[in-house]
Amino acid sequence: TEFISANDLASMMNVSVNEVISTCLSLGMFVSINQRLDAEAITVITDEFGYAVQFTSAEEELEVEQENEPEENLEPRAPIVTIMGHVDHGKTSLLDYIRNTKVTASEAGGITQHIGAYDVTTKSGNKIAFLDTPGHEAFTAMRARGAKLTDIAIIVVAADDDVMPQTKEAINHAQVAGVPIVIAINKIDKPTANPDRIREGLSKINVLVEEWGGKYQSQEISAKSGKGIDDLLEKVLLEAEILNLKANPNRHATGSIIEASLDKGRGYVATLMVQTGKLQVGDIVLAGANYGRVKAMFDDTGKKVATAGPSTPVVLLGLDGAPQAGEKFSVMETDREARELAAKRSQLLREQSIRTKKHITLDEIGRRL
Ligand code: GDP
Ligand code: MG
Repeated sequence: TEFISANDLASMMNVSVNEVISTCLSLGMFVSINQRLDAEAITVITDEFGYAVQFTSAEEELEVEQENEPEENLEPRAPIVTIMGHVDHGKTSLLDYIRNTKVTASEAGGITQHIGAYDVTTKSGNKIAFLDTPGHEAFTAMRARGAKLTDIAIIVVAADDDVMPQTKEAINHAQVAGVPIVIAINKIDKPTANPDRIREGLSKINVLVEEWGGKYQSQEISAKSGKGIDDLLEKVLLEAEILNLKANPNRHATGSIIEASLDKGRGYVATLMVQTGKLQVGDIVLAGANYGRVKAMFDDTGKKVATAGPSTPVVLLGLDGAPQAGEKFSVMETDREARELAAKRSQLLREQSIRTKKHITLDEIGRRL
């Protein structure tokens, strides 16, 4: 099995890809930038850079495979969107603006709690789920764990700045993952804004926007005033339409962990993104090496919910631990089945961590970016 490219591995370890390539050469391995590496190569390389990696190999992977759904069971689902871009180009401001509009609209009032994912209804009445990742490192970490969670990436570029290294990296990550991109040219309210400079910068890395005859949708916005944001969301929806996103909302739920932690009062609290099926209070959930019966669920505004369908983020109480971000979850038939699989997985994890030196997972390497 091949996992990630030399380029991605380099960025996870926060070294240049050239360092990785030359280290490989010194070890007698020839690798190119975009070459995908197998477990052995990754182990050798990360070892050279002082990291050790945990793998879940195909044979050991106990994940419940999703059966091929007959077409008649499928229904349209909302796109799951990640906002990426260079630091200070306005990712947080954009998501805040989108969420705040919603707070006022629904009068839910005072959302302060960070839950890592949000559910938004656009002016046109369509739903979009937003992942609030702290940057593309989370995207990379999730992908390293096999979670294909993001359908569409919004790449934010500040019009008073330039196409920057992290802009390029974010675009590269989305492209490698095969995730369509919509460009948001932000801060157009600023007197120094020069959107043409951004379009030109993008064209230099072969990202030609539609206005310039290319295939990439883009939108000038101000995350400060809100200008252009509705249009941006419509462009995201257009992209989603092309993807023809569907899921069976009537089966046992599967999805991914967005984040999880231990809360003093409430026990383990996990934010999950349901990707297929319907998650219900009382379901038995298996997530990585953890499991539990769903005691309670809350939507992104903190309101109690009994069920959650595809592309819906929920906060869940009832797991017996905190699975890592990007870990997949699935609803199991019986408590016993869930408990046994969770136990097998923890044993595997223990064995793997004995074999590795520093117990650093791909996720943790990602966080060091
Ligand atoms: P992030 O690092 O990409 O999440 O960027 P932030 O959202 O934290 O924004 C960085 C800075 O740019 C903050 O001071 C924001 O207030 C400011 N900012 C973001 N969007 C806009 C915008 O559209 N117009 C103006 N004038 N400032 C903005
Ligand atoms: Mg931010």
